[in-house]
Amino acid sequence: MGLIELENYAKERDIPIMQKEGIEFLKEYIKKNKVQNILEIGAAIGYSAIQMALVDQNVRVTTIERDYPRYLEAVKNIHNFNLDKNIRIINADALDIDIEGKFDLIFIDAAKAQYIKFFEKYKNNLTDCGSIISDNLNFHGLTQNPEEIKSKNLRALVRKINKYRDFLKSNEEFTTEFYNIGDGITVSRRKGA
Ligand code: SAH
Ligand code: MG
Repeated sequence: MGLIELENYAKERDIPIMQKEGIEFLKEYIKKNKVQNILEIGAAIGYSAIQMALVDQNVRVTTIERDYPRYLEAVKNIHNFNLDKNIRIINADALDIDIEGKFDLIFIDAAKAQYIKFFEKYKNNLTDCGSIISDNLNFHGLTQNPEEIKSKNLRALVRKINKYRDFLKSNEEFTTEFYNIGDGITVSRRKGA
């Protein structure tokens, strides 16, 4: 399976992999900033991890996926791309484990309701000059008018995403740039870094 097949596989099964624009942004970011060590929260079937690892052979990705069938799918895909040495995948809930070492990029793309928790936990694994990138901050445009959303669960989720947006905007430690790219991407860096 090539990248196009992975994209189609995900689409057919409603697996929310990164959108084209978003993945291009991420790859450009890695290139421009010569990123080498990446920690990803939310591997799904390994698509974005594979894309990031393919940017440069020196890139190393550690990625965490809690869903076992998706994890197995990711392991298989990573192997098919010959990237076993470049990508380490862990089957766990990211909030239940501790990861050792520092990363110059942390990419948060998992359960939207937990973004503040992921950020607070994993900022300790970020190098001084590193960035935390988060995906789906626009959440298909729903973050604009959460009170108009009929489904209670969806409304609660959108409120949580907006809470994360506020958390980033008012953060004393990090400065965040918001991009209307893909489904909404943020790049957060330590102030003064
Ligand atoms: N980054 C992937 C898409 C990830 S989709 C890509 O673009 O290719 C989000 C994934 O995060 C889902 O597969 C979900 O199972 C996983 N996830 C959600 N919460 C998690 C958590 N707390 N720990 C680990 N994985 C989580
Ligand atoms: Mg996403």
